[in-house]
Amino acid sequence: MSSSQPIEPEFQQAYDEIVSSLTDSTLFEKQPKYKKVLPVVSVPERVIQFRVTWENDKGEQEVAPGFRVQYNSAKGPYKGGLRFHPSVNLSILKFLGFEQIFKNALTGLDMGGAKGGLAVDLKGRSDNEIRRICNSFMRELSRHIGQDTDVPAGDIGVGGREIGYLFGAYRSYRNSWEGVLTGKGLNWGGSLIRPEATGYGLVYYTQAMIDYATKGKESFAGKRVAISGSGNVAQYAALKVIELGGIVVSLSDSKGAIFSETGITADQVTAIAEAKINFKSLQQIVAEYSVFTEDKIKYIDGARPWVHAGKVDIALPCATQNEISGDEAKALVAAGVKFVAEGSNMGSTPEAIRVFETARSTASSVPSAVWYVGGKASNLGGVLVSGLEMAQNSQRVSWTRETVDKELKKRMINCFNDCIEAAETYSKESNTSTLPSLVKGANLASFIKVADAMFDQGDVF
Ligand code: GLU
Repeated sequence: MSSSQPIEPEFQQAYDEIVSSLTDSTLFEKQPKYKKVLPVVSVPERVIQFRVTWENDKGEQEVAPGFRVQYNSAKGPYKGGLRFHPSVNLSILKFLGFEQIFKNALTGLDMGGAKGGLAVDLKGRSDNEIRRICNSFMRELSRHIGQDTDVPAGDIGVGGREIGYLFGAYRSYRNSWEGVLTGKGLNWGGSLIRPEATGYGLVYYTQAMIDYATKGKESFAGKRVAISGSGNVAQYAALKVIELGGIVVSLSDSKGAIFSETGITADQVTAIAEAKINFKSLQQIVAEYSVFTEDKIKYIDGARPWVHAGKVDIALPCATQNEISGDEAKALVAAGVKFVAEGSNMGSTPEAIRVFETARSTASSVPSAVWYVGGKASNLGGVLVSGLEMAQNSQRVSWTRETVDKELKKRMINCFNDCIEAAETYSKESNTSTLPSLVKGANLASFIKVADAMFDQGDVF
């Protein structure tokens, strides 16, 4: 694959990240057969592209391209979210689907990788119009999915409301009530903790990093945490950080960022969650909601949090891909960041990853190192609880909040340990006074799991 002027830049970026982790390790020297997997795994098993057309509230016809990239089913039914956003195209969905293969392998559950979506901006549209869009999208998608074939879920632009409309449409088109989507409502097959799972899981993974790096001496308590985004992932990450005694110094949306020296409160996060369903911007929310009036919240138009958040101990990017540039990564390191864990998929640019990884690998001691982990490990809590939702649907039972949360925490820690083990087993690094690379660890551990399944089933030979 050529790296100059790629036709699919986001996909190429995700592919290059994995390849560089693998080649910058001893894996191919120790086990050359794994090299054969790369050209095969990089091609999706199937890509479906279809027309979605609906009548908007003005009575006009609108049309947008819909997609499902069924990337890899060696480890289980295709699994991954649906993104409804104007930026959606095949490069973005291929990058997300490719990441999803490896992320899902790290959950320890049996799930393949996929991603889908629609190039549409839902902002400002009525519930009725959103229902018509979901219905039209599912009219075609329903032919290609099923509880044992492909199980979509939400992603940016697709939350509980959209999953409801999509599920209703599937039921009707296929005459089948089955666990074909995850993130369902609690009284029709959904799992407790699924809405919280990505944000909570991110914090559990980060807690495991803090534990390991400080030998159990430190926690989130008293730490300044810069979070970006204000959607589902950011909201529940913020709430868990607050619960654990951390200070959430920022949140953001596509238009700007808010900052609080004393820490954004749980009430404020709840107000944001409520208003975001109605597509309000953070600027509007801060101006309109009474929970903000007493408080000294600073809003910066057009800003991302990273260079404006003051001293930062932990950064949790939870907005979208490439949301930390190389310069912003440098600013975070200068601001004192010690832990960076992605809630978003591919939140850091390759330049930013280089900055974080250099600040880790060249550190003279663990306390002076910066420790970065990519989303395919740290944000897998969402799809992990999706997997648990599928398990509950198959058993036709619902587990308690405690059971799901315990399983989520346990499996996030297992994933962290798998990343450490793979990084140590295949490391080429000579600096032993620093921490192992979690980027490489995540890419190696997941690649081996997927590759082994593909060899066993004759997908690679
Ligand atoms: N969209 C989420 C992700 O990026 C969740 C996918 C799922 O639950 O299937 O992992």
